[in-house]
Amino acid sequence: MSDRVSDRVVVALDVGGTGMKCALVRPDGVVVRSERHPTDAARGPAAVVGTILEVAGGLADKARADGLDPIAVGIAVPGVVDEARGVAVWSANVGFRDVPLRDLTVKRLGLPTALGHDVRVGGLAEARLGAGRGTGHVLFVAIGTGIAAAHVVDGKAAVGAHGAAGEIGHILVRPDGPRCGCGRPGCLEAVASAAAIGRRYAELAGKTADAPVTAAQVAERAAAGEPLAGQVWQEAVEALADGLASGQALFDVATIVLGGGLAQAGDRLLTPLRAALHERMTFHREPQLVAAALGDEAGCLGAALLALDAVGVRDHQEKR
Ligand SMILES: [Zn+2]
Repeated sequence: MSDRVSDRVVVALDVGGTGMKCALVRPDGVVVRSERHPTDAARGPAAVVGTILEVAGGLADKARADGLDPIAVGIAVPGVVDEARGVAVWSANVGFRDVPLRDLTVKRLGLPTALGHDVRVGGLAEARLGAGRGTGHVLFVAIGTGIAAAHVVDGKAAVGAHGAAGEIGHILVRPDGPRCGCGRPGCLEAVASAAAIGRRYAELAGKTADAPVTAAQVAERAAAGEPLAGQVWQEAVEALADGLASGQALFDVATIVLGGGLAQAGDRLLTPLRAALHERMTFHREPQLVAAALGDEAGCLGAALLALDAVGVRDHQEKR
């Protein structure tokens, strides 16, 4: 084991429904090695846990072989996560049901381990290392198949009393709107997620629709002047603005960082959304609205930050 501070790394894993992004990360946020592995969730949760432990152990071994000192492990998973107990409580796309992932990792690797929620750690990374850096109070909103958020204050993401903070996708925005996956009609996610935008376009296009249309294609067609796409896009923007205005009323953040697939629409989303959010501000202070900066690395970097926090090593990158 080395005494040199610069040799320290953490093992970070971001486990998704299809793939795992994995890395060795230094305390200053620099990635010294990265790997991707398939999750292959169809094998069942026990096999996925086996792969997580194997990949984490493999990375720790590779670190030591390179003369580095792995000091902790951070793992991000989707679904409901009990961060305090280190348990992956429930996940639709990986199949976890009360998996004590932190204890299993500690037992296998002999290293301090932190378990986190994928969107919350993504928000942590964007707030400390990415688009929200230096602004203190950040709301990170990931818009993809669903919509979820992380509220980060001074470098810590709020977890909630039951591990379920940040479910902004289930704020009611359209009482007579489409039914949400959670069972209730009119949730933000049922109106403005990437999946919902594609569905809405197909519904209105009816028989004239050629093939399933993605949200990105709706954005493109709207920008090209197609009236139907323009209508669908604007509906989604208005619903998002309602959801974000509720978020701002609750949290009064300095910066809202938009991530996930839909944020890749860039100014086609940000420009009308800024205008719609501006209209909704009365006495509230208007937040900056910016696109995420770390892309799909955010979850892995956030898992690394959780690991560093768990062993009391504060990264220096964010303070520069
Ligand atoms: Zn819902």
